[in-house]
Formats: sequence, C-alpha cells, structure tokens
Amino acid sequence: MKVMKFGGTSLANWQRFNTAADIVADTAKEEAVALVLSAPATVTNALLEMVDVAMSGGDYKGVLGNVESVFSHLYQEASGVLQGSQLESLMEKLVQQLSFWDNKLLGISLLKECPDFVRAEILVGGEKLSAALMVQLMKSKGLSSQQLVPQDLLLGTGDPLESLVDIESSKARFSKINLDEYRVWVMPGFTAGDKQGRTVILGRNGSDYSAAVLSACIDASCCEIWTDVDGVYNTDPRVVSDAKLLSQLSYQEAMELSYFGAKVLHPKTISPIAQYHIPCYIRNSFNPKAPGTLVSNEADKSGLNVKAISNLDDQTMFDISGPGMKGMVGMASRTLGAISRAGISISLITQSSSEYSISFCISTHDAEKAKDSLELEFELELKSDILEPIEMRHDLAIVSLIGDGMRTHKGVAGKFFQALAQATVNIIAIAQGSSERSISTVIEQRKTKHAISACHQCFFDVQHYLDVFLVGCGNVGAGLLEQIKQQKQMLKQENISIRVCGIANSRYMVLDAKGVNLNEWQGRLADSQTQWDMEQMLKWAKEEQLLNPVLVDCTSSEQVSDRYIDVMNAGLHVVTPNKKANTRDIAYYRALRETALKQRRQFLYETTVGAGLPVIDNLKKLLFAGDKLLKFNGILSGSLSYIFGMLDEGMSLSEATGIARDKCFTEPDPRDDLSGMDVARKVLILAREVGLDLELEDIQIEAILPESFDASGDVETFMANLPKLDQQMAQWVEKAKSEDKVLRYVGQIDDDGCRVKIAEVDAQDPLYSVKGGENALAFYSRYYQPIPFVLRGYGAGTDVTAAGAFADLLRTLNWTREMSA
Ligand code: ADP
Ligand code: ASP
Ligand code: MG
Repeated sequence: MKVMKFGGTSLANWQRFNTAADIVADTAKEEAVALVLSAPATVTNALLEMVDVAMSGGDYKGVLGNVESVFSHLYQEASGVLQGSQLESLMEKLVQQLSFWDNKLLGISLLKECPDFVRAEILVGGEKLSAALMVQLMKSKGLSSQQLVPQDLLLGTGDPLESLVDIESSKARFSKINLDEYRVWVMPGFTAGDKQGRTVILGRNGSDYSAAVLSACIDASCCEIWTDVDGVYNTDPRVVSDAKLLSQLSYQEAMELSYFGAKVLHPKTISPIAQYHIPCYIRNSFNPKAPGTLVSNEADKSGLNVKAISNLDDQTMFDISGPGMKGMVGMASRTLGAISRAGISISLITQSSSEYSISFCISTHDAEKAKDSLELEFELELKSDILEPIEMRHDLAIVSLIGDGMRTHKGVAGKFFQALAQATVNIIAIAQGSSERSISTVIEQRKTKHAISACHQCFFDVQHYLDVFLVGCGNVGAGLLEQIKQQKQMLKQENISIRVCGIANSRYMVLDAKGVNLNEWQGRLADSQTQWDMEQMLKWAKEEQLLNPVLVDCTSSEQVSDRYIDVMNAGLHVVTPNKKANTRDIAYYRALRETALKQRRQFLYETTVGAGLPVIDNLKKLLFAGDKLLKFNGILSGSLSYIFGMLDEGMSLSEATGIARDKCFTEPDPRDDLSGMDVARKVLILAREVGLDLELEDIQIEAILPESFDASGDVETFMANLPKLDQQMAQWVEKAKSEDKVLRYVGQIDDDGCRVKIAEVDAQDPLYSVKGGENALAFYSRYYQPIPFVLRGYGAGTDVTAAGAFADLLRTLNWTREMSA
C-alpha cells in the first residue's frame, strides 16, 4: 500500500481538488492507497484568525463566512460528478461543522480564552471537510473508499498543539483494521488523538508528518508528498528564481533541510520514514509527469558536496554570559534545561572555548517565555552579577548549507563565508555539527535574500550577475546601453548576465528589478512619471537585495559624484567617466577609497583619463609591482590633439578650432577645452594615483588663450574674436618648426610639480607624432627609462569611452581578485 499526501495548495479549488482525485484514482488502479489530506490552502489560516478575533471579542462571522464559501463552492462544483445522495451527505457534514465552529467561537468570544484542545478541534475542521469530499469523489470513480479517523488511530503525545505520534502504539491500533477492505483510505492530516481520545494537532504544516507516521504505521511501500513544486529545490524557489531541482536526497539531508526552514517538508516528517526505511517522493500535483525528488538512503549520484541552502527566519538569539561562566560546571545544562522546561526547541547553539558565553537561537515566537524561564533559573547569579543581564537579539535568520558530501571536503566553509562577505552580510554566529552535514550562520533577517542569492550563485550557479543603474543618458550613457544591448547574448554564453535595473536622466528615472528592455528604454524613460531621486534609487536597490548592483555615473554632475559614498554604503559599486569625484578635495578622495574598502565595493574610473585607454589600471599594476613614477608627459585631450595637429599642417588656430567644433570634437563651448581645465583634472587624477597629495589649485594651468585676449561673450562672439590670436600662434608654430619641433598641449608631472601647457616637442619625443584626436601618455619610471612606457590611441569619443566604462562594469565581477589587490 502506498501513502499519498496532498497539501493545501493541491486542494485549493475544485479544479485542483479534482486533479488530485484523478491522480489518486490512477495510482489506485495499480496499488491500494492511503491518502492524507490537508485543508484547502488559506483555510487553516482563516480558522486561526477566527479564533484570534473571537478571543479579542471581535466579529469572527466574516472570516467564518469565507471558510464556508471555500467549502460550499467546492461541494457545489463537485455536484457535477457526485450523486444527489452523496452531495446531501456532504452538505449535512458542512452544516454540522459550521455550527460546531459557530458554537465554539461564541464560547471563546464570551470567555475571551481558548483552551488548547478546543483550538485543536477548531483547526482540524478544514482537514475533515477535505477528507469527506475525497471519499465521495473516490466512490464516484468506482473505487471503494473509507475514512481513517486519526483521533482513534494515531496516538498523539506531548503538547496538544505540537503533538508527536507514538508510532509503535499507533501501529498496534492499525493492525486491528483490515486495510484490504477498501482500495482508497482517506485520512485528514494535521491531527491525532491523545490518550483520552481528545483531538490534538501536529503543528502548522503538520500533514506531511501525518503522512510519514501513517506510512510507518501501515508499512507503506512508499510515501508520496504531493505539493505545488516539482520537488525539493536546492533553495527556496520563491527566493532564488533559478533554484535547481534535486532528484535525490538522503534522509539526513532532507532532515537538515526541513529543520533549517525548507517549508516543502515539515521538519518532523523525515524521522519516521527514515526509521522505517520508507522511500519518500516529493511530487507536483500541477505537473504529475515530473518524477519529483526521492528521499531515501540510496547512494547519491549527483556528485555534489553541497546540496542545498536553507533559511530559517524569525529567530531570536540569546547570549548567556558573564564572569561566573568560566569553568562553572553545569551552566550549559542549566541553560538548556530552562529552555526545555519551557517546552521550547532550540535551533542552534554555539559556545566559545573560553566558556565565557553560550549563545543559542530559538523562534522569536517563544522568546519571552524563554527569557522568563532563564531568569528564573539564574535568579541568584543574575542578582549577584555573576551573569550579565540576559539579552535577546531579535530579527535574525539562520542560513545553512546542507549536504552529506560536505563531510571531509575542505574549503566549503571558507567559500560559504566569502560568499556572505561578498553580499556584505555580517555573520553573527556560526555552528557546525560534527556530522559535517550542515554549516549554519546566524545573520540579520533583512539580509536573508541577499545571503541566499550570493551563496546560491557561489555554489550552484555558473552565471555571474550584474545589475546596472545608469545615471546620465547623454552620448556616453546611451552608447553604453547600446553596447550592453549588443553584447548581452554573447556575455550570457560567457556566464555573465547583465540586467539594467535602473536608468535615470536629470529629471526622471525608471526602476525595474527584472531589467529594462533595452529596445525600449528611451520610451520608458520618456513616459516615466518617477522623478529622478538618488535617495529613492538607492533605497529601492537595497530593498531588492540585488547580487551585484553597480551605479554607472555617465553625468558630469557634482550632484551625482558627491553622493558616491552613500552609493557604496547602500551596497553598490561605482563605475564612472565623471572626473568630478576624483578631483574634489583630497579628504573626499580618501573617504571614497576608505568607504570602498569598508563596504567591499569597487570604485572604478578608468575612463576619466584617456577614455577607453587602459591607463589607471596599468599604472596601478606597475606601482603594485614596485615601479615608481619619475616623470609623466602626455597629451590628454582629444580635441586639443586635433587642433594642435592641424596647426602643424599650417592651419590657423581659429580655423582648426572651428573645424574641431563642427566635428563635435570639442565641448559645445570650445573655451572649456582651450581653458586647459579638463586636462588639469586628468593630470590631478594621475598625480593622486601615484600618491601625490595635491588639490586642483596645485596644477599650474597655462591656458591656450592668453590673459590679454578678450574671451568674453557668447560662443559665436568668442569664435569671431579668435582669429585675433592666429598670427601669434602661427609665429610660435613657425619658430618651433625652424627647430624641427611641433607644438603640443601637454600635461606634465615631475619633481617640480604638475602643470598643463603648450610645449615645444622635438622629433625624439613620443608625443611628436600624436595628433588627429589621439591621446598619448608617456610614463617615465624606474623600470621604464630612458624610453618611457607609452599608451596611445583615441582618448575621446562616445564608443571608446562607453566601451571603457563597460570594461569597468565587467571588472566589478572580479571582486575577490580586486579586493585582495
Ligand atoms: P503544501 O500546501 O503542498 O503543503 P507548502 O506551501 O507547505 O505546500 O510547501 C511547498 C512550498 O514550499 C513551495 O511552494 C515552495 O515555495 C516552498 N519551499 C521552500 N523551500 C523549498 C525548497 N527547498 N524546495 C521546494 N520548495 C520549497
Ligand atoms: N492545514 C495545516 C496547516 O496549514 C496543515 C497542513 O496543511 O500541513 O498548517
Ligand atoms: Mg506543507
């Protein structure tokens, strides 16, 4: 005989109930079935609510009406397949049950209390009505069917609301029944009877346990738990959308998994089926073809060391500590004794070898009761200050790694803790049993999703995730989105998944946890009613607990760059071509780096100097390898590289500037380029990178426009005036030419300081041939001299800058390597 259990989700409405009935009928063709049923989903919660409302003297009729309508709908729809007499008997049962509930609730609301046995009887009503319907459905399918009455057959012991079943005694009772008499036996789950035959319940979600004890009592060939998922996943599929289905688990693994929170199985379920060696399948009533997960003692074929990750929420941690603890025999026993006397179960214990403190976790629901019991036990020690006052820490969760194969396998804990660190999750306590079948950490509950996603990614997922928040949709920002769109598929094949979760311009933003479709981002931003608000964006990103969120700042705004510390504190990496942050005061410059280190986030700004050219990264690597910068000389502006190149060709300054402007090589106002400020910022970034504590004022700037020149007015006036400088500049170019030199606008760092200026450059200089918009950076260093290390290439332009930012974005994935650098 086979045991089958259908949970509330599989019985939630007529269609599902009927599907469950079909699955049972199919099975019963092959083998007799003992069926265990839950109440339809939501019913038990509603019954509990009713009791609470009645206890507080409120009006419970509305909730009772909801329960009534669940069953009257079910029964009415079943009338299509039932005979009139069957329906009548069901309706009679429903009326009886409703009046039972009504009577009891009236009593409760008058007395304002509800004894446990009354509560138990009220709560199992849902299961009873499910079972009554199923018996009639089986009969209508031509199968002989009868109810099993758990109050008479299963002997419940202990707490009437959390009873355990005495299997041996119950087995003896079952032996008196001739099970061959009916093809389908139907038993309401979740309940048993105590010695006096009073109704008790087996704890929330306890129908799984009913099925397990029934399997043991009747020596079932197997126990099938039918639910709404394809089996047991390696983590809660509601938390991690790509959780993986497990085909097989050992009893011990299943036990740890359910004990540490996997709702798919009640924690008490495994013990009886393991003890009686009954194979157990977890199957999906919505997808009966799927094979499900087998829990048994068969050898594991998956080869996985770590099988699953689970989380147990709503935990409170107690810390019993004080000078009196050291070496005092019996403290642990007294602590645990006090908790046990209060009837509370402990989920995790740790004690340091200094014996100074014992910490343990229990369900928050039991916290006050536990505290009272401990204070009673240690009354004397607390009064005489041998113990510190008993402290409780609420809002915690236990996240556990589970797998038989972790035993003797090295490095699992290390990887686990590193994954948590990556997700910026602080570990409050750790426990590992000597079975090495699970490792558990206590963390803040608000970080659970983050912790689980990071661990899942680390142990099971080959995909790496990037969650992008782009601020600034000008040329570079839009270019970056285009590049991401183009590369998305290819990167996916390389196991990198990019989602653009946020896009903002200076006025509006779009936030989307699933990722904005990059074919329509312009439209979505244009239609967005959500004002751009950094605070809001960070709050949202934090709440979503994304795995690897990155802010990409493609603005040139100080309002954005002044917030990078908040951004990193909110858990995002920062990638930016915006020079403003790195050229603000040195205190902010340092604070950014300290925050990055503290928050274990990356702050990447490769594109601030030389656009896409790999300047900062190479420089850093040289310095890490012990090199030292002696001198730097570079062309750092694409527009000035173009203009000075044209001067070589004999073009006048005004003409060259005009053409550069027409080609959009310059800023809209060319004075921004000609002032030298942009180059000065780049020099400052480089100088700080090599360790010089300088401010922007320390960079000497020789502007191309002499002070005597009137550069005022609008752009057109300025352009009209510019020819006044042509002759002076042409003479300078000629003079240089006569000495076989050219003019270049350069940034320099050397022993005398940092400056930007027009320099005369001879043919031996690497900058001599650099023009047409190219940048060139010559680093003279301890290792690179007298011939410098030169980086050369286009140092401006949308595509190269966006590509450089893209490369930085991808570097945020190399977190471990970068952090140890
Ligand atoms: P039932 O009503 O059938 O008893 P439950 O809601 O009690 O169903 O349990 C099934 C649910 O457990 C699934 O829908 C799933 O969301 C949740 N769950 C949590 N952890 C896991 C896991 N590791 N594997 C599968 N399901 C899980
Ligand atoms: N109906 C009960 C509950 O919701 C028991 C169960 O479904 O397992 O807790
Ligand atoms: Mg369940």
